[in-house]
Amino acid sequence: MTERHDNKKINEQNRRLAGLYVHIPFCEKKCAYCDFYSLEAPQWTDAYLTALETEAFLTAQRHPGLLFDSVYIGGGTPSLLTPAQLDRLFDILTRHFSCLPGSEVTLEANPATLDCEKLSLLRERGVNRLSLGLQSASDRELKLLSRLHDYRSFLQTYRLASAYFQNISVDLMFGLPCQTRESFSETLSEVLALAPAHLSLYALKLEEGTPLSKKRGLFSFPDEDAFADIYLSACERLEDAGYKQYEISNFARQGFCSRHNLRYWKREEYLGFGPSAHSFIDGCRYANKRDLFGYCRSLSEGRFPERSEMTRLSPGDILEEEIFLPLRLAEGLDLSHLEEKTGYAMEKASCAKLLFYEKEGYMRLERGRTMPSDAHARTAPASLPPRCPEARERIERIALTPKGFLVSNAILADLLP
Ligand code: SF4
Repeated sequence: MTERHDNKKINEQNRRLAGLYVHIPFCEKKCAYCDFYSLEAPQWTDAYLTALETEAFLTAQRHPGLLFDSVYIGGGTPSLLTPAQLDRLFDILTRHFSCLPGSEVTLEANPATLDCEKLSLLRERGVNRLSLGLQSASDRELKLLSRLHDYRSFLQTYRLASAYFQNISVDLMFGLPCQTRESFSETLSEVLALAPAHLSLYALKLEEGTPLSKKRGLFSFPDEDAFADIYLSACERLEDAGYKQYEISNFARQGFCSRHNLRYWKREEYLGFGPSAHSFIDGCRYANKRDLFGYCRSLSEGRFPERSEMTRLSPGDILEEEIFLPLRLAEGLDLSHLEEKTGYAMEKASCAKLLFYEKEGYMRLERGRTMPSDAHARTAPASLPPRCPEARERIERIALTPKGFLVSNAILADLLP
């Protein structure tokens, strides 16, 4: 992608930066836990690409002048596309959109669906980051999840992909059926031995209606203590191995944080394409309906696809997002910045709560200048007094610790006004 875009002589200064997400709604076989929108119907890929091109065309007309600095091709299983279909996908993106030189371009891949020909083509077309879904190194756990691959085939693909890409992210899951502290620890040891640039660690959520949720009674799952132990010990081991935890579920070696993912948590704009894809642009959040055939029909008639959600954010929504999203990040929330943007003085409103969460190890508080306490200082008041009586120093920034991340939903609900 990048080469052709470099040639467009983009006037970067006058362009608005955004992220671009493309959903590929096909999988060879559905995994037992998966609630993402994808169909076991790759025979519809060519028709889908035709519709995608129309959505790209209509969107480029509606939002002229956008310049993308991150592209994420996710799914579904984008690596299921044939080399010719991948080539066509990149032609579509290149025809309708411009990317900043050096943009991050990620493609999600299932280990069972990559080969040298595809890897070489992806690199040639500007992909510079590969996200590989492993989930577990235990074949027993992979089988219970109905994953297409076993650990051996993941390893083969990983080694092959390493010859083409330096920036590889590996997805792992915890809280799996029959998973133990020991089996997770072995998974982590296996992955750390490969030293990928980036690692994502997600907790399994049993989504209603998925085959795994229907069979939940048949399996033992890690109990609450084991679940917390697995997450906290993983955070520690990853830090010891040189990975910085920059978000609840994401860890990276120096220089390999995902720019595209950060965009979501920093409330930066992005456009999503394909059924179920979400967008955030011009203060509005919307998602395309989870309906491949409706999507293709609308676009064949030259209309935008139907949206399942469309929200123009109210001041209350914005305040919620300005609190909720930064607190997913390890760098946390700057309270002065929050007050400037929304008028909400969290330190004043929730001081006792913040001090409690700090005392109990759920939160780190970054403090500003000390309040004057001696005679001299009393004559020269500090310019930044605390904003609440309980704190002797101004609290400038708050951030959740790994222990806090484990119960982040409860803490965030407690802090929202
Ligand atoms: S490969 Fe990914 S998107 Fe496809 S069914 Fe499995 S988890 Fe879902």
